[in-house]
Amino acid sequence: MKGILVVVFVCGLCACGNKVRLPPTPPPSATSIAASTSVTFDIDSAYVYVAQQVAFGPRVPNTAAHRACGEFFVDVLKRHGAQVHVQEAELKAYDGTRLQARNIVGVYRPDLAQRILLCAHWDSRPFADHDTDTANHLHPIDGADDGASGCGVLLEISRQLGLRAPTVGVDIILFDAEDYGVPAFDKEIYVTDSWCLGSQFWAKNPHVKDYRAEYGILLDMVGAKDASFFKEWLSVHKAAPIVEKIWNTARRLGYGRYFVDAIGGAITDDHVYVMAGRRFPCIDIIHYDPDSQTGFASHWHTPSDNLQIIDPKTLHAVGETILTLLYEN
Ligand SMILES: [Zn+2]
Repeated sequence: MKGILVVVFVCGLCACGNKVRLPPTPPPSATSIAASTSVTFDIDSAYVYVAQQVAFGPRVPNTAAHRACGEFFVDVLKRHGAQVHVQEAELKAYDGTRLQARNIVGVYRPDLAQRILLCAHWDSRPFADHDTDTANHLHPIDGADDGASGCGVLLEISRQLGLRAPTVGVDIILFDAEDYGVPAFDKEIYVTDSWCLGSQFWAKNPHVKDYRAEYGILLDMVGAKDASFFKEWLSVHKAAPIVEKIWNTARRLGYGRYFVDAIGGAITDDHVYVMAGRRFPCIDIIHYDPDSQTGFASHWHTPSDNLQIIDPKTLHAVGETILTLLYEN
């Protein structure tokens, strides 16, 4: 993505995926199985899912790391009992590059008409264009927070949904090619809608004809230590009751320090295209820093967006809030 205040767009080298060795997928812990009648979001499991993504290397479209990580998501979602749709698309980037992209959808309770959409982007930015060292600008970022954190939370939620089926239909969509927008150093280039390419495609070509959800929740940059989630302006403008419900749930669970009771900037992120294309409300939970020039944390689109800045406690706050909401629906 890029810019804020009025409008922000939030929005990887390739670790040559064949050399990457992954830690094993965490097994369901005894506590989460035993307590499957209550909401349990495993703090360590979510963190491992983030680490596993980062271990592939930057997930930049058209790279081996990106392809391998896409397979990983499909495998994990299937293992967690989801009905999986893989939507392949060749998407044109701002510079004409043809991106081989995949939106990956995990469906729970396809039999139910009432549905909630949970989404995040899984690709990572090909440029560290906001690093103070210009020598890094052409290097891709790890995207531990910007990309992997949201997907890590959603994978743990999928594991829980596999253990205890929800009473509402849940669709988890991992959008591709969110973060391939015009780099900040290319000031001459102006291309509209260069971000969120995967969600733009899905919004026009949903995995189910005429797809609708009651509402959607987008997670983006939800893993940094001491993250602050202000109420994103467009979310409040288009879906205030959903925002209030989520922020109230978070506060009730003791996560008020993360879910700040104040309105933040308007951000152009996947939720904008979901709402425009599918015509149901979708809100964005995103780390916002009102004191920074960009509106984002200092690691945003820099090499510092790596595993070091991820705090399992933040992932837990977000994941437990969403899971509680789903089971209380
Ligand atoms: Zn980004």
